[in-house]
Amino acid sequence: MKQNTTITAKIKLYATKEQKALIQETINAYTVACNYISEIVFESKQLIQPKLHAITYPTLRAEYNMKSQMALSVMRTVIARYRSAKSNKHQWSLINFNRGELDLVWNRDYSLTKDGFFSLITHTSGRIKIPYEAKGVEKYFTDEWSFGTCKVVVKSGALYLYIPITKEIDKYDITACNDVIGVDLGINFTAVSYGSNGKTFFFKGRHIKDKRAQFIKTRKELQRRGTASSRRRLREIGQRETRWMNDVNHVTSKALVANCKDKALIVLEDLHGVRNATEKVCKQNRYISVSWAFFDLRQKIEYKAELAGKKAITVDPKYTSQSCPKCGNTDRYNRDKRNHTFKCKGCGYTSNDDRIGAMNLWNKGIAFVSKETIEINFDSTGHVNVPTM
Ligand SMILES: [Zn+2]
Repeated sequence: MKQNTTITAKIKLYATKEQKALIQETINAYTVACNYISEIVFESKQLIQPKLHAITYPTLRAEYNMKSQMALSVMRTVIARYRSAKSNKHQWSLINFNRGELDLVWNRDYSLTKDGFFSLITHTSGRIKIPYEAKGVEKYFTDEWSFGTCKVVVKSGALYLYIPITKEIDKYDITACNDVIGVDLGINFTAVSYGSNGKTFFFKGRHIKDKRAQFIKTRKELQRRGTASSRRRLREIGQRETRWMNDVNHVTSKALVANCKDKALIVLEDLHGVRNATEKVCKQNRYISVSWAFFDLRQKIEYKAELAGKKAITVDPKYTSQSCPKCGNTDRYNRDKRNHTFKCKGCGYTSNDDRIGAMNLWNKGIAFVSKETIEINFDSTGHVNVPTM
């Protein structure tokens, strides 16, 4: 069985000053048109494109000077935003497009030219050809990947395309599973993995913890100063930290996924684990970005596993740090946080406490694989429910 997997490629464009101005003008025109449509959608509650078309198309063409294809894109952009607000159960309210919008349809509004440029449609000046940063994204320019409608984004004065790219892959077949890996994400160790061969891998996190602490210290100092230049520095530091964390997570997820067998099932804690992990951090090390960093790492593991023919699932993390992986005895005093040890009150099994979480997740994965041959139990978020052991 086949399934599609989609990731977002972020591609930097090297536009000239004139090109940037043309794109910015296009973004502005598109955004203004989005706001016009948004008001009509808000009042009419009309989310069916042909009906919205009948009401708005002539005005979009005549007064907003939109070419016909771009007028259709504007409607789609606005409808999609209202639909997504609706599916997120937000109250019906007017959506403002105030950040600048521009959605371009592949091979119609934007394309790749044979001589290696991105060609983008503009509001008033036809198509323009812009060079791009190919490093890191070349692998997506093959027949295996198909490009979707991209978003044009201006960030810190630079121009980017956010392109959803899709590849057809074989659906993971649990009956072919040849290894189960429990992966516990943490602070002292970014990740600890435990596999069916009984081997534990520790992905060291100490240097990350230290570097993050450094970021926090710098940030605090800048916050205290509160001048215009310190605020600008603060933004720069934030961006640098995000880039760095992104790199760290790429490296960790890549190593982790490469480290397990070709049809492995990787077992991670579900989102509750994020909160637990934040709580694990002692107060002086507390930082907001922890949850984000975990969320990001988990996502990277998930998609890298998928692309490699493996599969990552998330399970209820309840008691994963207190239960004995050998006899199942659950007692908060099994764990001695201060000395980083685990000693079971029931059977006496002793181990490093960071390893216990990974072992218990491995146990849950094994239970899942055996259960799976009978029925698949996915909840509405696509996550797998495994009963707590
Ligand atoms: Zn025990």
